[in-house]
Amino acid sequence: MKSSDIQNLTVAIVGAGYGGAAAAKALSLLGAQVTVYEQASQIREVGAGIGLRPSTMDQFRRWGMFDAIANVSTPSNQFEILTATGHPIMTEAWPAIPGDTENTKTHLIHRGDFIEALLSVLPDGMVRLGHKLDTVEDRGDSAVLTFTNGERVEADLVIGADGIKSAVRQQLFSQAGPVFSGEHAYRAVISLDDAYGMVPDDELRMYIGRGTKVYLLPLRHRNQLSFDITALNPDGTWAPTVTSDDLVATVEGFDERIVNMARNLNMDTVSIRAVYDIDPVDTWHTNAVALLGDSAHSMLHHQGQGANSAIMDAGGLADALVEADSVPEALALYQATRKPVTDELQRISRQGWTEDEVNDVFPGQKPGSIAGAAV
Ligand SMILES: Cc1cc2nc3c(=O)[nH]c(=O)nc-3n(C[C@H](O)[C@H](O)[C@H](O)COP(=O)(O)OP(=O)(O)OC[C@H]3O[C@@H](n4cnc5c(N)ncnc54)[C@H](O)[C@@H]3O)c2cc1C
Repeated sequence: MKSSDIQNLTVAIVGAGYGGAAAAKALSLLGAQVTVYEQASQIREVGAGIGLRPSTMDQFRRWGMFDAIANVSTPSNQFEILTATGHPIMTEAWPAIPGDTENTKTHLIHRGDFIEALLSVLPDGMVRLGHKLDTVEDRGDSAVLTFTNGERVEADLVIGADGIKSAVRQQLFSQAGPVFSGEHAYRAVISLDDAYGMVPDDELRMYIGRGTKVYLLPLRHRNQLSFDITALNPDGTWAPTVTSDDLVATVEGFDERIVNMARNLNMDTVSIRAVYDIDPVDTWHTNAVALLGDSAHSMLHHQGQGANSAIMDAGGLADALVEADSVPEALALYQATRKPVTDELQRISRQGWTEDEVNDVFPGQKPGSIAGAAV
């Protein structure tokens, strides 16, 4: 589209998570008139770390915000998988960007710092808190949003970046709900001083035992470690009740230092949730509304690609607007570029466990009947 056409475009983004904030950055850099509507009255994130891949960091470089992220993260070269007792299984370098002359690394970052860095590069007033979307009405060449606070806005382009339970997706694209993976995630950030010397460098390590994975993700710049446990568990309550003893039981037989770290956790600081994804959504867009991030393709975290994909979606959407002749064409191009990639990531992210592991936790059930616990 001509830049003058993009500059006339009003864009309403629902959700100020990683996807919504990144889309706001990308589209406002093109000159579009962007407003982000977020239901929360205060932005908060789970206390845990994630890895931002080289391609994601490269996207930030293109948006002129590489340093904003690099300043609050730790570069990492590789990912190592070990047995529960610490015998190496494999080491993999983070996938590089072909032809990258900058030697861009994966950056390990605290989720709170990440959202703060993303929001800090948006113009003041672009994000409007306390706006929970109630309804979205697609009018063909525009869409109207109504919020529970009574406000109503019309925009040429609406981006539904409202996460796994997306109202935009459920009202316009698919009524299918989230799918339980058959596992729980327990996440906490602890001091590196309390890590029993298990973090000798800045590489991500995953220890695998029967039905449990423990991730040690260094946040060296904070002298902290993101200590994350994913364990098979049949309780699909969104925020399940889990005691310290329950949590410690998931790492039984692991390296004694991991057991000690689990035992020492202050349960008030542990984020506990059942893990869900969604099945692929056939269509992500109309002529005036598009899904982005988890609302389009929430995936399990076994590949560590959900947030990374949301950022790449934002880049793909901005590129499509520049390349196409109209918004409808751009949205079709955006889906054509991004959906094959995320369909595949959704698929492989479900391959987290072996059939034996699933049978241990769900005796008598076919693994395929535990959605997400694919074999
Ligand atoms: C245990 C676990 C570990 C993970 N680890 C990784 C990892 O290592 N690497 C990685 O890349 N990804 C990881 N992910 C995935 C990652 O967290 C998500 O993919 C990412 O948060 C998606 O961002 P988003 O902006 O699309 O959605 P969200 O972060 O869910 O943001 C959606 C926003 O929309 C707002 N919203 C929702 N409904 C409304 C409404 N009706 N009106 C207004 N606002 C609304 C919400 O309040 C929220 O702010 C992990 C996920 C889990 C569960």
